[in-house]
Amino acid sequence: MKKPLKILFATAEVAPLMSTGGLADVAAALPKALHKAGHDVRLILPFYQKLPRLPESCRRNMCLAHLGTHTAYGCLWETTLPDSEIPLYLVEHENYFGRMAPYGDGNHEYGDNAERFCFFSHAALDGIAGTGWKPDVVHCHDWPTAPMPLSLKTTFANHPVWAGVPSVYTIHNLAYQGRYGAEKMASTGFGPELFNPECLEYHGDLNLMKGAITSADRISTVSPRYAREIQTIEYGEGLDGILRNRKDILSGILNGADYSLWDPTTDPHIPENYSASDRAGKAVCKQAFQKQLGLPEKDVPLFGIVSRLVWQKGIDLVMESVLGLPEGVAQVAVLGTGERGVEEGLKHLESQRPDSVRVMLDFNVPIAHQLQAASDFFLMPSRYEPCGLSQFYSFAYGSIPIVRRSGGLADTVADCNPVNLKTGVANGFSFVPLTSHSLSARLQQAVELYGDPAAFKAVQDAGMALDFSWNRSCETYIELYRECIEAA
Ligand code: ADP
Repeated sequence: MKKPLKILFATAEVAPLMSTGGLADVAAALPKALHKAGHDVRLILPFYQKLPRLPESCRRNMCLAHLGTHTAYGCLWETTLPDSEIPLYLVEHENYFGRMAPYGDGNHEYGDNAERFCFFSHAALDGIAGTGWKPDVVHCHDWPTAPMPLSLKTTFANHPVWAGVPSVYTIHNLAYQGRYGAEKMASTGFGPELFNPECLEYHGDLNLMKGAITSADRISTVSPRYAREIQTIEYGEGLDGILRNRKDILSGILNGADYSLWDPTTDPHIPENYSASDRAGKAVCKQAFQKQLGLPEKDVPLFGIVSRLVWQKGIDLVMESVLGLPEGVAQVAVLGTGERGVEEGLKHLESQRPDSVRVMLDFNVPIAHQLQAASDFFLMPSRYEPCGLSQFYSFAYGSIPIVRRSGGLADTVADCNPVNLKTGVANGFSFVPLTSHSLSARLQQAVELYGDPAAFKAVQDAGMALDFSWNRSCETYIELYRECIEAA
């Protein structure tokens, strides 16, 4: 048997403590799977204001970061991830993290995000070194922890704890890169010699993610297809060239679903539990949800959306295509928050279709579960989708996904085309052209499928039978960790 690994898992979000989307779910579920597999995995997160205060006994050591213009001092705390025995370290700094949101207020990013997250990355390494625990590998995620792989290769390259410790960098969404004006370079804690096109510079700007891509020992992203897509101009967000240069260490590992939270047979948030073999409870959930939302309790297909309401998610296509459906043939329920324009567009749609559309501008986990349980179809017409988690949940809850064929959605949804229907693998609808016409055609097909109960059940069955639990992907991450530890 191979020796268990010591893994430091650095993230800006983890459910249920701080969450803006899929990263938080992954940052809770993957460590739980690693812990279950016998590894010593520990998380490190900024100590945001919204997190519960801890007793003095949880206070560990001081930590600091030299940020060029000044040295910033913080404090490391230790607790455990809720509902687990996994150690969770928190980096406290009142000025940087004593705020309600992780990245910004409303549509505006905090102006000092580069400095805040450079502080977090350097101070986390300094603080962990003070605990006496020495990880075998550091696993970082997205732009907020992007400074860490570079810090390991520069500031901490000769450090007694960190020298030779490799890093894995996972890209959950390439669109958010931590890109700022060059003037922010001075407070990153990195020397000016790193501000060059081979490292932190991107067309004259500072780009934190680029620094991680050029310095991490392994790069992964959250689905095999997205790993290929991001090496193309279309999906590369300007970093496709640099990703192609690193293609030998770049791989795609599909995210998993945490079925301890998302299982209709045990879900405490829904009015009646149900399973693939007894779906009666799903009808109860649908009726209760229609009532809760003030929708007519009619037997028409209910289309659901739970999403960040941002351009990426293609919600604009939904607005046009829903209006293309004849009135009364279907209902639509949306839960989400995000860009004002998208929120207003949805509210306008609701006012145009008061008898069939409900829009809840809220971030609400119980309602997200109720919506998955109540809906017959789940819409994800994303312009791009690194993996997507909601389709895993919709499969489990018997809500047939209707998706744009990109990234992880392409890797997981098998379209109801004649071949897939014949072989019994069809589990959803997918389309390619980014037009409301394409989505309309799929909505129309979905309405027809709903009208044929046997065919509808067959597609629902195929989705409910799928297993996207973390075990398989967890094994692949462990192989990746071992590979880079051995190569280091
Ligand atoms: P992304 O990470 O791009 O936001 P994913 O599909 O990977 O998209 O993950 C979205 C996660 O966030 C899902 O668990 C979904 O249920 C949750 N979520 C998104 N919006 C809301 C909301 N308004 N209320 C509750 N949960 C939400």
